[in-house]
Amino acid sequence: MTKQLSMLDQPTETLAYPPNFIERVALRKLPDGYWAYRFEALDYTAKPPTIFRITGGKPRTLKSGPRKGSLTVESGTSVEVYVTRAEALAEEQAYEDETGKCGACVDGKVRRFSEFVDCRRCGGTGRAVVKKVPT
Ligand SMILES: [Zn+2]
Repeated sequence: MTKQLSMLDQPTETLAYPPNFIERVALRKLPDGYWAYRFEALDYTAKPPTIFRITGGKPRTLKSGPRKGSLTVESGTSVEVYVTRAEALAEEQAYEDETGKCGACVDGKVRRFSEFVDCRRCGGTGRAVVKKVPT
């Protein structure tokens, strides 16, 4: 039986997370076909953190063992890249410009614990909000 989240009567594909813009930037910096598998905020006490170290590696399929068939990272292929918060925000802006969708939610909903609530950024519309120029 599939686990159903409370207050939701929607097909599972709408339960996805919004794009991870840090990961999207990291994947461009990593070699082609690599996975990003470790995320660290280097200034994790800052609110919000501004610099992230992402470790990627070449994926391979496990040929045996209890996790047979699942993917792992080939040893010796790990590469570290750095992504700044500014780069992630620029990526989010590009996504919103391109798709017209809010980058912080999926169809106006964000996950909060086991619930989905209206996204505060777009007011639950799911549409990209035109940013005000900072004064
Ligand atoms: Zn939103």
